[in-house]
Amino acid sequence: MEIPATLAPENTPNAGFDALRRNLSGPLHEPGEPGYAELATPWNLAVATSPAAVLEAANAQDVSEGLRFAAANGLPVAVQATGHGIASDLAGTLLIHTRSLNRCEVSPNGNGGSAYTGSGTTWTSVLEACADPGLAGLCGSAPGVSVAGYTSGGGIGPMARTFGAASDRVTAIDVVTGDGVLRRATAESEPELFWGLRGGKGSLGIITGMEFGLLPLPMVYGGALFFGTDSVERVLRIWAQWCPTLPRAATTSVALMQLPPMPGVPAPLAGKFTIAVRYVYAGDPDDGGSWLAPMRAAGEPIMDAVGPLPSSMIGMVHSDPEDSLPAAEASALLADFPEAAAEALLDCAGPGTHSPQLMVEIRQFGGALSDEPDIPSALCHRQAGYGLYTVGVAAPPELAPIRSHAAGLLQSMSGWAYGGTLPNFSAGTGAAGFNASYTAQTLDQLKELAGRFDPDRLFRVGQVPTR
Ligand SMILES: Cc1cc2nc3c(=O)[nH]c(=O)nc-3n(C[C@H](O)[C@H](O)[C@H](O)COP(=O)(O)OP(=O)(O)OC[C@H]3O[C@@H](n4cnc5c(N)ncnc54)[C@H](O)[C@@H]3O)c2cc1C
Repeated sequence: MEIPATLAPENTPNAGFDALRRNLSGPLHEPGEPGYAELATPWNLAVATSPAAVLEAANAQDVSEGLRFAAANGLPVAVQATGHGIASDLAGTLLIHTRSLNRCEVSPNGNGGSAYTGSGTTWTSVLEACADPGLAGLCGSAPGVSVAGYTSGGGIGPMARTFGAASDRVTAIDVVTGDGVLRRATAESEPELFWGLRGGKGSLGIITGMEFGLLPLPMVYGGALFFGTDSVERVLRIWAQWCPTLPRAATTSVALMQLPPMPGVPAPLAGKFTIAVRYVYAGDPDDGGSWLAPMRAAGEPIMDAVGPLPSSMIGMVHSDPEDSLPAAEASALLADFPEAAAEALLDCAGPGTHSPQLMVEIRQFGGALSDEPDIPSALCHRQAGYGLYTVGVAAPPELAPIRSHAAGLLQSMSGWAYGGTLPNFSAGTGAAGFNASYTAQTLDQLKELAGRFDPDRLFRVGQVPTR
């Protein structure tokens, strides 16, 4: 990538960025300046990033100024809220950081409610604001991710089979498109942009805020059952048989886990190979318990943490790690997950295989997720039956064996592959991986829109389609 000489990191500060700085309300951090390292460091510490500068946007106008400056100087632009989905080292980019765009307004109404969130707002803030009015938002397994980053990639969470993708609940998006123009996209105004921003991630613009619906759902019946090493095989097979019987009020996933002994990891799970059955039933708790009974009977749980749960505490279902860590992830979509697939998974990543993965997860999809939304969006692959996701944690030089093990695992599951992946689970897979998040037709439409809304190709780094 060509960076104008005056903007190369070694020539800053006091180089070209001063002109931009004068037009901003928020700070701009260049390498070596206070704030740069903190903001340029993503949640996933495996990716060391080196943007040319970080613009900490104070408002939408700052985002627009940044994009216009980048266009005038031939700089690529990246956006970051939390760095959970970091895709590349961002070398030479102008990184627009959204953490200060943290507005979070929750408005109850007769039929649930709605929320408006700035693009730096995380689901943690939304869930907190939802607790008192007894509302639920469709957040993912890890509430620490930003609403904008998650929802722009579809957003498939622990209630996805019941309520579908988060992006289908969005009613309005404020965005600065690649041409520097602030626009409001809804189904009526800018319908093509509205289509592309819900599923297309950051390919068309930088979202500054969004409005979406909340459900009148103070409580769910949910949590996780944990079983010890001896039960892993049996529980996984029974889970594979059980999933197709479930109603759409139930969403489940299963995780083979090897959690290290460290603070925050419950003693019964620490340092052992365990299996977790995650479960959310959005309905009568007694019915929820009845549907879960076959899994409770699949073995002797070492921890049974399923019961009535405030929906604002939905993050406890997966209990994903909150602190930054160096991680290597891989993912695939599966058409089906019969017992034979469970066997193949166990052969590659079960107890005794010396799998280097911290976690190998299968999520059941289907239900409401497979319904065609009332307002079409760029989110594809809604008919996939299951999602496979692996994550391994190690100091970066030791991530290579984790990645090659994950590649082998995906290969051994290829007989059940649906094809493609989801944009939110393709962060480290480069342009080809990101493109695989879409059908050919959707990808063409996204590229055509990008040509119109991002004429200078500012968004050419990270999770964007190749043009
Ligand atoms: C532990 C963990 C659990 C997860 N669980 C789920 C899950 O259950 N379901 C699910 O769907 N996903 C899940 N994800 C994926 C997560 O939703 C994506 O990584 C998401 O992109 C994170 O958004 P972020 O803004 O917090 O991260 P960032 O790294 O800051 O941003 C990632 C990308 O999101 C886009 N983006 C961010 N902000 C904007 C913006 N303002 N405008 C336009 N585009 C933007 C950009 O493409 C950006 O590169 C999980 C990820 C992790 C690490």
